[in-house]
Amino acid sequence: MDFAFNDEHQALRAMVREFAESRIAPNAEAWDRDHHFPVDVVREMGELGLFGITADERWGGAGADFTNLCIAIEELARVDQSMAITLEAGVSLGINPIHEFGSEELKERWLPDLVAGRALAGFGLTEPGAGSDAAATATRAVLDGDEWVINGAKAFITNSGTDITSLVTITARTGPDEISCIVVPAGTPGFTVEPAYRKMGWRASDTHGLVFEDCRVPATNLVGERGRGFQQFLSTLDDGRIAIGAMAVGVLQCCLEQSVAYAKERESMGKPIGSYQAVAFKCADMEVMTEAARLLVYKAAWLKEQGGPFKQEAAVAKLYASEAAITATREATQVFGGAGFMDETLVSRQYRDAKVLEIGEGTSEVQRLVISRGLGLPVS
Ligand SMILES: Cc1cc2nc3c(=O)[nH]c(=O)nc-3n(C[C@H](O)[C@H](O)[C@H](O)COP(=O)(O)OP(=O)(O)OC[C@H]3O[C@@H](n4cnc5c(N)ncnc54)[C@H](O)[C@@H]3O)c2cc1C
Repeated sequence: MDFAFNDEHQALRAMVREFAESRIAPNAEAWDRDHHFPVDVVREMGELGLFGITADERWGGAGADFTNLCIAIEELARVDQSMAITLEAGVSLGINPIHEFGSEELKERWLPDLVAGRALAGFGLTEPGAGSDAAATATRAVLDGDEWVINGAKAFITNSGTDITSLVTITARTGPDEISCIVVPAGTPGFTVEPAYRKMGWRASDTHGLVFEDCRVPATNLVGERGRGFQQFLSTLDDGRIAIGAMAVGVLQCCLEQSVAYAKERESMGKPIGSYQAVAFKCADMEVMTEAARLLVYKAAWLKEQGGPFKQEAAVAKLYASEAAITATREATQVFGGAGFMDETLVSRQYRDAKVLEIGEGTSEVQRLVISRGLGLPVS
C-alpha cells in the first residue's frame, strides 16, 4: 500500500498551485461579483495543458493518470470553485464522452481544440423535467435521411455558452426505449443557448439552458453506438463524481488553511481565538474531514486507474467529500465571525459555492441510492 503522490503528481500540484494563486486568486472575487467568465484565463489553463492531462497524446494530451487531473481540480478549487468546475466539466463532461466513445471522425474533428483548451464543450443530460430521473429524458432525435432532427430542452448546462464553446453532447431519445448521445455543434440552426443563469454560487462559471427546435445535425454526430447513451453517461458520471470529490477536497483544504491562520492571528478577550477550544476544535474537525475526504477521493481515483469497478467508491467519495465541504465552509465562516460574512473573505465565497457540490453530477440523495444498491438493498 502506497499513500504517497509520485514526483509527477507533486510537480503538477506545484505548477497548478502557482498558477491558481497568481492568475486566479487575485481576480476571483471580482469575477464572482460580476458573474464574469474569464475566457482569457481559461485559455491560459489550456496552454498549461490542464484540459489535456488525461487525453491521449494523439490528440495533444499528456496521457497522464486520472490522479493528476484530480490534483489539478483540487488545486483550482482551493482558490476558486468556478475555475475548478470549468476544468472538471471541460474534461469529464466535454472531452471524455467523445474521447471514450466517439468515432474517429468525431475525435479528429473536435478533440485537438478541446484538449488544447482552445475550445470548450458541454454535456447536456439534465432537462427541465428530468434531472435525477435521467430516464425521463424527453428530448427526441429522429433520423431523417442522413441527419438527426432534434427537439427538446436541456437545463443547467455547464460550459455551453462561452465564447469558445464549440459543441454540446446531448442525450436524446432515439427510440421508445432508447437513449443516445449526439454532438450538436455550437451555432447549428435550431440550437438556442438561453441567457446565463443568475446563480447563488459558481458565478464565474458558465451555465445555460438550451433549446432545440428542428435542429439538424449529421447522422455521424452520434457518439458511439445508437441506444448506448444511458450506459455512456453513467460511466461519464462515475468519473465526474470522483472529480467533484476532488473539488471538495480543495475546498476543505482552503477552509482548514484559512481558519487555522485566522485563529492564530485574531484576538478576542486578550487571547488568540485559536486558544479557545470552541474555535480550535472546529479547525481540528476540518483537519479530520480534509484527510478523510482526500483518502476517499484518491482511493477511488486509484481504483479507476487499476481498471476495476469503482462505482461504489466514487459515490462514497463524492457524498462524503461534498457534505464535508459544506460543513467546513459553514464552520470556517463562523471562525471568521462578521468578516466571514463579507464578500472579500474567501471562505464566504467557498460557502456559497460549496452548496452545489451536493447537487451536481448526482445529488447526495442519488449517491445514497447508488451506495444502498451497491450494498444489495432493494431501495427505490
Ligand atoms: C451550477 C450547475 C451546473 C450544472 N451542470 C450540469 C451539466 O453540465 N450537465 C448536466 O446535464 N446537468 C448539470 N447540472 C444539473 C444537475 O446535475 C442536476 O441539477 C441534478 O442532477 C439534480 O437534478 P434536478 O435539478 O432536476 O433535481 P431533481 O431531480 O428534481 O431533485 C430534486 C430533489 O429531489 C431529490 N430526489 C429526486 N429523485 C429522488 C429519488 N429517487 N430518491 C430520493 N431523492 C430524490 C433530489 O436529491 C433533490 O433533493 C448542473 C446543475 C447546477 C446547479
